[in-house]
Amino acid sequence: MPTVALPASAPAVVVHSAGDLRIEDVSLSAPAAHEAVVEIAYGGICGSDLHYWQHGAAGESILRAPMILGHEVVGMVVQQAADGSGPREGARVAVHPATPGPGAARYPAGRPNLSPGCTYLGSAAKFPHTEGAFSRYANLPSRMLRALPCALDLRTAAVVEPASVAWHAVARAGDVAGKTALVIGSGPIGALTVAVLKRAGAAQIVAVDMHNKPLQIATAVGADRVLRGDDTEGIAAVEADVVIESSGNHRGLTSAINGAVRGGTVVMVGLLPSGPQPVPVSLAITRELELLGSFRFNDEIDDVIAALADGSLQTGPVVTHEFPVTRGLDAFEAAKDPSVSGKVLLNFRD
Ligand SMILES: [Zn+2]
Repeated sequence: MPTVALPASAPAVVVHSAGDLRIEDVSLSAPAAHEAVVEIAYGGICGSDLHYWQHGAAGESILRAPMILGHEVVGMVVQQAADGSGPREGARVAVHPATPGPGAARYPAGRPNLSPGCTYLGSAAKFPHTEGAFSRYANLPSRMLRALPCALDLRTAAVVEPASVAWHAVARAGDVAGKTALVIGSGPIGALTVAVLKRAGAAQIVAVDMHNKPLQIATAVGADRVLRGDDTEGIAAVEADVVIESSGNHRGLTSAINGAVRGGTVVMVGLLPSGPQPVPVSLAITRELELLGSFRFNDEIDDVIAALADGSLQTGPVVTHEFPVTRGLDAFEAAKDPSVSGKVLLNFRD
């Protein structure tokens, strides 16, 4: 039995179609046996949320029905899963938004992020869509929940999901200790990548962006030097051992290739639009660059939670705004403008 009386409905952030985002009451369904009810405290607005709002699609995922957005959420369990699994009532939790796919196609063991048919909270990749968790209460599978240590407050933990994406990207590059690192694109993922590189002992971190605000944030979380995205010569002169491309456009990937030292590694975490991309890939051949893809994350979320709890990972400056959910539309307006914001949080308890 629930320890708190749950309401019949609760405010949620629902995208209906391109340009039509609403804060509206959605009725709460009864949780399945493997689902806990989580009172959501904070939700971070992600690039994919912005895409669904602005374009009615994120990459190949096209919105075909109204969908609750949101996959970067933290909160408190108010009703444990009926099957007894997962954290108990009162536990503060972060959420791993992925559900590995059931498909039989091959993928490497231990890398379920690559499983075909993998679903993600707040994703229109499949139909019916996978509802997100930008809602005052959300029914979530207990296996998605990660209990937070006492030392980690919910607001700091609100970046666990995007920080896990950054952590996975840096891990793809191998040991970065003592190396020169270049981060192309200093939005929330890029800035969190800088923070992860700093913690991992990179000797010099150079951050690149077209706007001042992201460069200020990158500096605050550990970048030693910043460059403008159009400073082609400056970027080429970095000769980075490791480049993390997080801008998600072909100009950024071009800068990444140009900024890598001969024999260096380029990790591509920014999701490029589908289809052919004009990049100088011949340079990657003659310089023997290692071009590596990076997609979401797996159990890195546990490392991120531990590193945030012990203070070795510092992400505070990445969060620039917080809005009550009732002002959700203002929050999305702020989040879409990289010249004013880093990570924007919705507060569902206000
Ligand atoms: Zn995200």
